[in-house]
Amino acid sequence: MEIINSTIRSFFQYFGSWLVKCLLKPRKFIQICDLCLQPSDNHSLLCRTCQQDLATFNLTLVKGNLLNHPKIARHLPQIHFQQLICLAPYQWPFASWVQQLKYQQRFEIGQLLAKLLVAQITHHQLEQQLPTLLLPVPIHPQRLRERQYNQAALIAKELERHLPCAYDESLIIRQSKTEQQVGQSGAQRRRNLHGAFCLVKPCHLPAHVGIVDDVLTTGATVSEMAKLLTQHGVKKITVLSVCLTLPND
Ligand SMILES: [Zn+2]
Repeated sequence: MEIINSTIRSFFQYFGSWLVKCLLKPRKFIQICDLCLQPSDNHSLLCRTCQQDLATFNLTLVKGNLLNHPKIARHLPQIHFQQLICLAPYQWPFASWVQQLKYQQRFEIGQLLAKLLVAQITHHQLEQQLPTLLLPVPIHPQRLRERQYNQAALIAKELERHLPCAYDESLIIRQSKTEQQVGQSGAQRRRNLHGAFCLVKPCHLPAHVGIVDDVLTTGATVSEMAKLLTQHGVKKITVLSVCLTLPND
């Protein structure tokens, strides 16, 4: 009888430890691709096939600077930065992703977009052309309180994790509420943005600084920031943006 009890006890001990191991064993998280809605084959929000299908800019053709493209240079006439690196034109799925990040709090989209931008920089071997410091385009403090986060800062923070660049989201503040400029011309935007930014404290800035944004339309906002940086001794300014709104012509 004692032998049977001991056997049953051993069995339950073995079964118990097996069950605990199974419960504690890390499960492979199945990630669904955001575009094709199939299980993603690389544990990312985007499967390999959909990633390869994305229409992104060929930065090698423009020597790592989209301002070398005549059509884009014509589209951005009065700018105060010297280099432009963008992931893709502002169209599906990027436009949809940017909206979801901005208004639906899909923070994982910020990570995805930053990773795609990093992959593009690496693919086109632009590491040598990167700035030392990344600054996101700030939003007005009141808007930040309402929205709770700045999508450009989320992207910049993620870029810093993967690129050899420092990051500072509190160096420049926005002192006027000029974020909503949809439908305004470049000249109107430039007028509204005059003096919109200021440095929080006097500081020594590196020679090459990057400004990070989600979408570049007329370049007026980043140019106003760039003017401020130039006044404080910065020699070269690179804009890193996820999307670029292309002219219709
Ligand atoms: Zn897919």
